[in-house]
Amino acid sequence: MKRTIVWFRKDLRIHDHAALWEASQQGIVIPLFIWSEQDRAEYGGNEATSWWLYHSLEELKSTFHEQHIDLLIKSGDDFEVLMDVIRETKADAFYFNDRYELEEVIRQNTIAAQLESVGVEVARFDGNLLFPPDILNVKGEPYKIFTSFWKRALQEYVNQPYPVPVEMEQFRNDSRSLTPSDLNLPKHSPSLKKHWIAGERAGIERWNEFSDDGLYYYKKERDLMVKEGTSTLSPYLASGNISVKSLWHAAKRINEVTEDPTIHQSIEAFLRQLVWREFAYHQLIHHPSIAKFPLRKQFLEFPWQGTNDDFLKWKEGRTGFPLIDAGMRQLRETGIIHNRVRMVAASFLVKHLLIPWQDGYEWFKRSLVDFDMANNATGWQWVAGCGIDSAPYFRVFNPYLQSEKFDPGGAYIRKWVPELAALPAPFIHKPSEAPTDILEEAGIAIGQTYPSPMIDHAAARKRALLAYDTIKGKSQDTTN
Ligand SMILES: Cc1cc2nc3c(=O)[nH]c(=O)nc-3n(C[C@H](O)[C@H](O)[C@H](O)COP(=O)(O)OP(=O)(O)OC[C@H]3O[C@@H](n4cnc5c(N)ncnc54)[C@H](O)[C@@H]3O)c2cc1C
Repeated sequence: MKRTIVWFRKDLRIHDHAALWEASQQGIVIPLFIWSEQDRAEYGGNEATSWWLYHSLEELKSTFHEQHIDLLIKSGDDFEVLMDVIRETKADAFYFNDRYELEEVIRQNTIAAQLESVGVEVARFDGNLLFPPDILNVKGEPYKIFTSFWKRALQEYVNQPYPVPVEMEQFRNDSRSLTPSDLNLPKHSPSLKKHWIAGERAGIERWNEFSDDGLYYYKKERDLMVKEGTSTLSPYLASGNISVKSLWHAAKRINEVTEDPTIHQSIEAFLRQLVWREFAYHQLIHHPSIAKFPLRKQFLEFPWQGTNDDFLKWKEGRTGFPLIDAGMRQLRETGIIHNRVRMVAASFLVKHLLIPWQDGYEWFKRSLVDFDMANNATGWQWVAGCGIDSAPYFRVFNPYLQSEKFDPGGAYIRKWVPELAALPAPFIHKPSEAPTDILEEAGIAIGQTYPSPMIDHAAARKRALLAYDTIKGKSQDTTN
């Protein structure tokens, strides 16, 4: 009977797992997770994603165990590990879902070539995206405008998710496996545990809860920070605990059985966000260095000016702008930051402080529980105005107005910046301008219990636009 090694990376699930399903239909499955230098580098420095990985692996191990199959966890060089496993298990095939980050592409191509050269059958699948990533526009070029990509996406056929393989061939092998604990990943994190349950089961449960309730209000409430009106599925999508195709079809099914226009609009808005993720992956595939270099070449010469001290204040949530501070503290505490605040905080770093977006990308990479190279790089390039279809540079978010609009009662700020909690709503957005008696009553001394704004908004906006003027006329060609 055929024996197939199925390689798990950021697809830590058994539902809609193309490689696993195909292998399970042909014989024995040997699930394998390799902890290589490359993985150490990818997870290193980010406690949240490392914690998530630990718990996802624990769960995956027990999921396979229930079917009397061992998840092999091995550490070392990919090829050496694979040759050992092939020898020990007598495997004849190797299946995996593709990844799209350049280093992972090189890694998977190298492994595939090495194994094929020693006679092992290799098969790869597009398991983690909605469509095969080869969609081009009428000119035969990659899409540059999200709206056109979205329209095209609605015409594309999204394959139905693969079923969960049940009653897989039992296979116990003699190959010695590590346990997730052997990988030195952080097991315990009181703050993350308070906010998250990692893994496939929790991801599916989260979707069920959201689709029962939050999805209805999604269009109306997704920008309201305190409502938590979004799905919070991003860490599950980023680690592959949940499949994007399953979400797509589940949302479409709800759409078909309801006539309520509110839910139709909300589902459309939700699917649109899934297509933003897809668009981000297309950008990454066509511009592999998107996390390092601006797609608009003119930005290579942007006159950045920010200081380390400014950067530290932003990272620690001590800017004196309550909305920014709330977002950055939420990030430190929970590994997540609401999308609207993500945009405003990122814009503040790049435009108010003139700190390179790449520094912001790196901080998010270290801190986000949903870190995803494609989404993060596209998000930063969008905010900085140097991406292909991005916010124009001259549109500078006003953190005070954003806060008044999307956190009108100030509840989000109160939650994450407790020293401002006693300040009434109109003043909480801009405490530095609150009357002295109101501040005294709330027990706040600006500059002592809460920082004064680190920069004047109007002056910062002017400075940002002047900086932009220096590169405005230059070539806008996109770079690879
Ligand atoms: C500067 C910046 C950095 C970002 N970094 C990341 C990142 O590292 N990882 C990440 O998953 N998202 C990132 N995003 C996109 C977005 O903020 C998050 O996907 C979203 O906040 C996740 O919350 P949710 O799951 O509740 O989203 P929902 O609104 O419920 O959306 C559902 C899913 O759609 C996808 N999605 C939603 N918004 C976007 C978007 N703008 N771009 C791409 N995909 C999207 C996500 O996978 C999300 O889980 C970034 C955005 C910005 C502006």
